[in-house]
Amino acid sequence: MKAVDRLLFGTAGTPNSAKPRDSITAFKRLNELGLDSMELEYVRGNFPGEQKALEIASAARDNNIRLTAHGPYYINLYSEDPEKLAASRERVIKTAKIGSLSGAESITFHAGFFRGQDSGEVYRWIRNELEGIIHKVRQMNIDVDVRPELTGKPSQFGSLDEIIRLSDEIEGIQPCIDWSHLYARTGVFNTAGEFQSVIDKIRSKLGEQAIKSFHMHITGIIFGLKGEKKHLNLDESDFNYKELLHVLRENGVCGFVICESPSLEDDAIVLKEYYEKI
Ligand SMILES: [Zn+2]
Repeated sequence: MKAVDRLLFGTAGTPNSAKPRDSITAFKRLNELGLDSMELEYVRGNFPGEQKALEIASAARDNNIRLTAHGPYYINLYSEDPEKLAASRERVIKTAKIGSLSGAESITFHAGFFRGQDSGEVYRWIRNELEGIIHKVRQMNIDVDVRPELTGKPSQFGSLDEIIRLSDEIEGIQPCIDWSHLYARTGVFNTAGEFQSVIDKIRSKLGEQAIKSFHMHITGIIFGLKGEKKHLNLDESDFNYKELLHVLRENGVCGFVICESPSLEDDAIVLKEYYEKI
């Protein structure tokens, strides 16, 4: 991620009000709305070609929109099937390659599923896979942050501690903190004190640099015993985004804030405007 001295608010994918629905229109629309960033969504496994990726990068620059990218949902780095495992590795690497060509500074993805296995064994396995992926990405000279995401269900690999530990143990891996997922998978982490404890842990394990180069997701959310059920708009959810934004401000957190609410740009603006008034 390039250096940044503030938070860059934006949407997970093309804003709802961008017509037609292409990236170039999306960036113009975000710029008109006063937003700063967008996450390119490869979640369904569709990637642009290399030429198109370069056009996306230049359109984003022209409109002052900074980019991240989200890899396909169908990634499981703890797959028992060697072909599926190889395909999962390739999807992460392709997200890094095409994302970087498109101008994304950071990529995120859901690393895998426990499949009922012991968390220590799954951790070691996924750590090993990520080391291989980082090695390959660096060999290909791709300059992009690689960030496994804090996921929304306890059945998914990616608790707060797992994500921080990977970032601590593997040079080149950093966290993507999805605050709403953290709330959904634990039922806590919805007060200023709890948000502060996350910042404190990141600061102590990963250093001030991690605080100055955050990649985070925020959305309204509803959840049950199995974690995340669905994303909601902020005003329909009890997720305490206001206290979170106070904590981010007080700690001088910088980087990407990607809004994943169904209303996308409307809630991204809610977040940005609230933050700016603090
Ligand atoms: Zn995600």
